[in-house]
Amino acid sequence: MSEKKENKQEKIISLAKRRGFVFPSSEIYGGLSAIYDYGHYGVLLKNNIRDAWWKAMVQERLDIVGLDSAIFMHPTTWVASGHVGGFNDPQVDCKKCKSRFRADHILEDFGISADKAPLEEINDHLEKLKKEGKLKCSVCGSDDLTKAKVFSLMVKSNIGSPTDELKEENVVYLRPETCGGIYLEYKNTVDSLRIKLPFGIAQIGKAFRNEIVARQFIFRTREFEQMEMQYFLHPSMMKEKYEMWKDIRWRWYLEYGIKQNEIRWYKHEKLAHYASEAYDIEFNFKSLGGFKEVEGIHARGNWDLSQHSKFSGVDLSYFDEKSGERFIPHIMETSVGLNRLVLMFLDQAYTEEKAPTANGKEEIRTVLKLDKRLSPVKVAILPLSKKEELTRPAKKIYQDLREFFMAEYDETQSIGKRYRRQDEIGTPYCVTVDFETLNDEAVTIRDRDTMEQERIKIQELKKYLEEKLK
Ligand code: ATP
Repeated sequence: MSEKKENKQEKIISLAKRRGFVFPSSEIYGGLSAIYDYGHYGVLLKNNIRDAWWKAMVQERLDIVGLDSAIFMHPTTWVASGHVGGFNDPQVDCKKCKSRFRADHILEDFGISADKAPLEEINDHLEKLKKEGKLKCSVCGSDDLTKAKVFSLMVKSNIGSPTDELKEENVVYLRPETCGGIYLEYKNTVDSLRIKLPFGIAQIGKAFRNEIVARQFIFRTREFEQMEMQYFLHPSMMKEKYEMWKDIRWRWYLEYGIKQNEIRWYKHEKLAHYASEAYDIEFNFKSLGGFKEVEGIHARGNWDLSQHSKFSGVDLSYFDEKSGERFIPHIMETSVGLNRLVLMFLDQAYTEEKAPTANGKEEIRTVLKLDKRLSPVKVAILPLSKKEELTRPAKKIYQDLREFFMAEYDETQSIGKRYRRQDEIGTPYCVTVDFETLNDEAVTIRDRDTMEQERIKIQELKKYLEEKLK
């Protein structure tokens, strides 16, 4: 890991913990690998990102409806989808230090693309590198590595059956992706909402994968949240709609402040047998040392509904009244990890810059320059002194504003320290109540990014904030 990347990653992890965004799960028991908890500001940020996605994908669209399907699903679901037996990653172990790696990631470091490649092909590549003396454990340097073997990513549960009686066909898995629930509710959705093709079903929820290696903070975890939209259509529309969704999703990132040169398309050359096109959106994670996938946009053919139709015996075809044609809809999906987006926005927003102190000196301030709509807290009310004549009106302002915005009231420590704290959690506006307020019924409002201050009437605060936070 380069020093710069390590530095940035450590800084983000440290800020996330210090300021109550993200904590390692079960820390008092020594933690649980690749599982994280979200503290107060983390939940607020995550919810705001989630809402921004939902707004664009459901609220503002006539052709998309929502769903919240269960995490537990009928065991046959994952047999039909090919996950049981097929949802694997190739694993390599270091015999000396016992470190574990994803073989396709090792090959990636040598510029060999082996995503979803067959095991034999992966082992051929590894063998060749070994012979050339290039294959070494990145942790201890040993060249004593195992061959790649298949490792299932499916997480089992024993719901409804005692563990000792668990037969393979009765295993209820924790879903590895949220789209499975969408396919199973396709028919109920069409029947109950009388919706016509093309249309989409969107859902946000938890997914679970027994990831082999997961040491990139919240980028890759074993429990995570996905935001997925499956768009059902006649195959003749696939090309047009695929391009349309690629464009919509690309623009969503720009809309929330991600810069054009910080995202790029990655085209999958090796496609699943049913897919006709697959692109990922990659973001340049400074904390991870480069471009990595945040979202997948895939043309999936009619494989999913055909499989579930076949395994369930239920007809999942669609009848088009206009053309008189009956067919199994094809699917175009957009699939993004919510936690990955939290890291993406933290990575992009984390800024250290020079700022003047109250006594005219200079200091480095850390500030999260998040899009204001995503900021956990929108406004902080800070009385300049703890005297009751200031705290009383300040509390009144806080109480009035919190009905409309996520607001905070803080009277502890110096004003400089309080500004710094709000900067670190990305609060776009700080309102200070000072002795002048008692005369002019006005307050000072400070902008997080420019640090400029404006005097405005208390009465106009709400309108001012509404305008600025749009
Ligand atoms: P990878 O190749 O990184 O393992 P994938 O291609 O298997 O990911 P998809 O199955 O396409 O990922 O999942 C869609 C999205 O879900 C990904 O783009 C990512 O944002 C998110 N995601 C997938 N796995 C994880 C994980 N373990 N932790 C966090 N987010 C994840």
